[in-house]
Formats: sequence, structure tokens, C-alpha cells
Amino acid sequence: MGSWLEGKDLAEKIKQDVKEEVTRQQQTRHQVPGLIGILVGDNRSSQIYLRSKEKACQAVGIASQILTYPGDLEAAALKAAIEELNRRDDVDGILVQLPIPAHLNAHDIICAVSPAKDVDGIHPFNLGNLLANQDGPKPCTPLGIIELLKFNRVPLEGRDAVVIGRSLIVGKPVAAMLTNENATVSVCHSKTKNLADVARRADILVAAIGRPAFVRPEFVKPGATVIDVGINRVSDRGLVRELFGDDPKRAEDLDKKGYTVVGDVDPRAFERAALMTPVPGGVGLLTVAMLMKNTLEAFKRRRGLA
Ligand code: NAD
Repeated sequence: MGSWLEGKDLAEKIKQDVKEEVTRQQQTRHQVPGLIGILVGDNRSSQIYLRSKEKACQAVGIASQILTYPGDLEAAALKAAIEELNRRDDVDGILVQLPIPAHLNAHDIICAVSPAKDVDGIHPFNLGNLLANQDGPKPCTPLGIIELLKFNRVPLEGRDAVVIGRSLIVGKPVAAMLTNENATVSVCHSKTKNLADVARRADILVAAIGRPAFVRPEFVKPGATVIDVGINRVSDRGLVRELFGDDPKRAEDLDKKGYTVVGDVDPRAFERAALMTPVPGGVGLLTVAMLMKNTLEAFKRRRGLA
């Protein structure tokens, strides 16, 4: 049995460092970084994510605001609003909370955000810089994963890494970052054959799929480091009991909220792993911390301070 790779200590350290730097900037330049979150429609999870990001901003001294638009907003109106934010000097970061309604082309909307203010690191210009291993904003969740691995001194160079999932926000960028760290990387997805066999080759296994407990214990090479990115709400009591036994915390979640949050990795895989991130309490905490760091860095870069 291994150890849990918790996100809390590193997330707190990153936020503390950001807070100190924001305070310094406020004292010397009388300016603080500004972050705008854009919410289109009334997706409940998006509302919760944005609120937690806003709370984190308040804690570190970043000025933040959530702009909410109706779900039937036209693309031209959304782009005009983004362009207005691109021009505002007090706005350093613009975050379009995904997913956006299907009638809007997400790629098109992301392209409207100034690359300098793209604190999610998903504008094609910034993704290009990531592939070229150059400086610039990088997607928050993958950045958090790499920082967590480094913080815990998990060797990457020459190691076999397998990423399950190829989304633009997690799978592809984390694969690029692991490549930049000299790992040998395989990317798996819904069309991959013999997924369990490929996954079992991994010294470092990253699961970003969006299906609860999809990665079974037999996918995990004994002694591997397992990074579970998934955030899935599960309300099926039978499944929760199968995965967590009589864990009182999970039972309490079901009683109070009607669901418990389960990762993409079957928690019983912990028995085989050397290190594994818990859900909740792992990667998710770092995503928000990295957003704070990206916003501060955008502020500094825009003022030639980076
Ligand atoms: P996505 O839906 O955009 O991508 C899912 C990927 O999984 C796809 O590339 C798909 O090919 C792959 N996939 C789907 N079914 C598969 C199968 N049967 N076999 C192999 N691969 C399969 O999801 P995403 O945005 O990358 O998010 C993935 C998960 O991570 C979700 O649970 C999401 O909530 C979570 N997430 C967490 C954080 C965080 O901060 N912890 C951030 C972003 C996303």
C-alpha cells in the first residue's frame, strides 16, 4: 500500500506566496491583479467552480468579478464583451468557464481572449508556446499536476507516463508538459485498444476521463504514481459501498448532499500504487491555486515585471 498524494500543503503554499506578492504589489504600485470569470447560462457546476475561484481570489487579494450572461447569448455579443475586457487595464485575467452552451463555438470564443489575459492557458497561442516549451500561461490543472509531482520529488525524466483522456484543458497539455519534463508519454482515449495493458506500463498514470472509478486496480502497475483528475458526482449507494466500503464520510455525503465526489480512479487502486491523489483533496485544490498564480503572472508580465 502506498501514500496519499494530497494537494493541500502545496496549494496553501502557492496561495500564500501569491498573497505575499499581491500585497507587495499593492504597497509599491498601488495596483492588484484583476480576474474576470465569465459564466454563460446556468450550469450548476460552473457556478460552483466560479464561486470557489472567486473565494480564492478574495483570500489572496486578487480583485475578481463574475460576469453572468443568459444561456442564449449570441456569439457576437460574447466576443464584444471579451474584447471590452481585453482593453481594460485593470483586468489581467479572463476566464471563460467551460462548458459554454452548444450554440457557441468554444474554440472561437477562447480565440477572442487576448493571449496575455488567457489565465486558463488554452488560447492557441499559449498552447503553441507550451508545445515549444516556452514561457507563458499554461492550463491550470496540468500545471498543478506537474507542480505536485515535483513538490513530492516524483522522478519524471525517462519514466513511462500514460495519460488517459485527450481534452484540450487536461489530457493534451499534461501530456505535453510531461514530455517537456523528459518523460516518455502515451496518450490514451476512447478509441485506444487494450487500455488496461497500456495503462499498466505507466510509472506515472494520469486519469482525466470523466467517468467514476473507470480506472480499475488492474490498470495500475504496482508501485506506480497515480494522478486522479476526475470529479464525478455519484449518488448510487450500491456503487459507493462497493468502492468505499462503510466509509462514514461517504455515507454522510450521501445523506446530506445526495451524492459523493468520486474520481476517475477506483479508490481500491490505492492498494497497488506507491502514491495516489485523493478525490476530493488532490488535483482539484491545485487547479484553483494555479489560477491565482497564473493571474499574478499575467499581471506582472503585462507590466514588464516578470
Ligand atoms: P472531457 O470530457 O473533455 O474529456 C474526456 C476524455 O476522456 C476524452 O479525451 C475521451 O477520449 C476520454 N475518454 C472518454 N471515455 C473513455 C474511455 N472509455 N476510455 C478511454 N478514454 C475515454 O473531460 P475533461 O475536461 O478532460 O475532464 C476529465 C475529468 O476531469 C472530469 O471528471 C472533470 O470533471 C475533471 N476535471 C477536473 C479538474 C480539476 O481541477 N480536478 C479540472 C478539469 C477537469
